[in-house]
Amino acid sequence: MKTIVLATNNAHKVREIEGALAMEGWEFKTLRQMGLVSDPTEDADSFVGNARIKARAAHEVSGGLAALADDSGIMVDALGGRPGVYSARYAGEQCDDDANNAKMLAELEGTPWEQRTGRYVCALVFVDEDGSELVAEGTVEGKIGFDLQGEGGFGYDPMFYPDAYDGKLTFAQVSQEDKAVISHRGVALRKLAEMIAAKQAK
Ligand code: IMP
Repeated sequence: MKTIVLATNNAHKVREIEGALAMEGWEFKTLRQMGLVSDPTEDADSFVGNARIKARAAHEVSGGLAALADDSGIMVDALGGRPGVYSARYAGEQCDDDANNAKMLAELEGTPWEQRTGRYVCALVFVDEDGSELVAEGTVEGKIGFDLQGEGGFGYDPMFYPDAYDGKLTFAQVSQEDKAVISHRGVALRKLAEMIAAKQAK
């Protein structure tokens, strides 16, 4: 059995990753499940850079097991691409989803629907046992709504209207499975799955 250490304790991300990368002979374990602690400073200026920092740290703290890290966020055009790599701590170091969403709605006040464009971005870095690396990225385009709609998902989902739903539904109003079909993380995970399969076939 090959153990892949997931450098995240976010249950939503773990479920999406396990679903997309279900592979014969592979088991996924979060750092917490392995009794490990890894909390490196995510000080890169790109999603890939931060995912690499987390994946490398998990690879090392686990004594050289394969490790997978996700770094993701939302980029809003009317905010010059912010909050980007700062999405998790947009409203401050100790903030939560509600505070982040409230801050974004306030910053976008007065911005019309057509100009509320943005995208979720997800970078995945997989570090194998031998230290070799695979990198995959995914994005999903959409618009930021005027209030919060739906109970599902997490983070900015209750106000993110993917273009694919024609402005009618947020990511918090669809199932996890439906979200994964078009989401930044779903796209990146399918790319990574293909890259892993191609590497194994060699
Ligand atoms: P990370 O955990 O450091 O990658 O931070 C990602 C942050 O971006 C999260 O805390 C959310 O605020 C936001 N984010 C990333 N992906 C999603 C998503 O699928 N839905 C909602 N928010 C997301």
